[in-house]
Amino acid sequence: MSAHPLAIRGLEQEFRSAGGTVRALDRIDLTIEPGEFVTLAGPSGCGKSTLLRAIAGLTRPTAGTIHVGDQLITRPGADRGVVFQKPALYPWLDVRRNVEIGLKLRGVPKAERREIAERQLEVVGLSDAAGRRPYELSGGMRQRAQIARVLAGEPDIILMDEPFGALDALTRERLQAELLALWRRTGTTIVFITHGVDEAVYLGSRVLVMSPRPGRIVFDESARFLRGGEPVPTDEVRSLPEFTDLATRVREAIAA
Ligand code: ADP
Ligand code: MG
Repeated sequence: MSAHPLAIRGLEQEFRSAGGTVRALDRIDLTIEPGEFVTLAGPSGCGKSTLLRAIAGLTRPTAGTIHVGDQLITRPGADRGVVFQKPALYPWLDVRRNVEIGLKLRGVPKAERREIAERQLEVVGLSDAAGRRPYELSGGMRQRAQIARVLAGEPDIILMDEPFGALDALTRERLQAELLALWRRTGTTIVFITHGVDEAVYLGSRVLVMSPRPGRIVFDESARFLRGGEPVPTDEVRSLPEFTDLATRVREAIAA
C-alpha cells in the first residue's frame, strides 16, 4: 500500500489546436489518501481521461501540480499503473509474456518475473490461458491480462480509464466483484473512471463527479456502506437504500 497521498493542486489543462484553445480542466484541487478507491464519473468529454493521463504523467498540465508524497509527477513511473479501456497487449506475445514485459524492461531476472507473472495470472483467473495470444482471448480475458500486467509491477496507485466499458454486462459484473476483492485484499489506491453511475457507487469508497468541460470536481462523497462498523457484503450493497440514495444524487450531479 502506498504510504503517500496523491495531491493535485490548481490543475489546469488546455489544448491548443488550429481551431483555437480547448480548456479541458479548470483548477482541480484534490487529495487522494492511500488505500482509497476513488471513482470518477461525469459526462462524456468533461475531462476525466485528461485528469487520469495527467496523474499518470502522460501529459504536462498547463498549470498546477500533482504530487505523490513529495515527488512531483512529470512523467510515467512504476509507482502508477494504468489500465485503459482498450487493453494494450502485444499481439505477438502470449499472455504470460505480456504480463512479464514490464518486469523484463526493468531487468527483473527471468525466473523471478515468471513467478510474479504466474502469481498475478492466478489472481485474475487466467492461469490456464498463459500460453495463448491476445487474439485467442475474449474481451474480458484481455482486460484481465492487462490488469495482471499492471499488478505485476506492484504500483502504489492503479489508474483505470473505463476499463470495463467495452465488456458485456455479465463479464463486467464479474470483473467488478473481482476488482473489489483485490482492493480489499491489497489496499492499493485506485482511481477508476466510469460513466456508469451504478459502477461508480458500487466500486468506490469515494465518488467524485466532474462538471461538463472545463472539468471541475462538483461532487465528492464517501461511498462506504457500513453495518455495525463492518462493510456490507458486496452482493448486498446494491439493494441498500443508501446505495440508491447516493446513486440518485450522483446522477443529479452529472445532469446538473
Ligand atoms: P472524457 O474522458 O471525460 O470523455 P477527455 O478528457 O477525453 O474527456 O476530453 C476532454 C476534452 O479535451 C474534450 O473536449 C476533448 O476533445 C479534449 N481533448 C482531450 N485530449 C485532447 C488533445 N490531446 N488535444 C486536443 N483536445 C483534447
Ligand atoms: Mg475518457
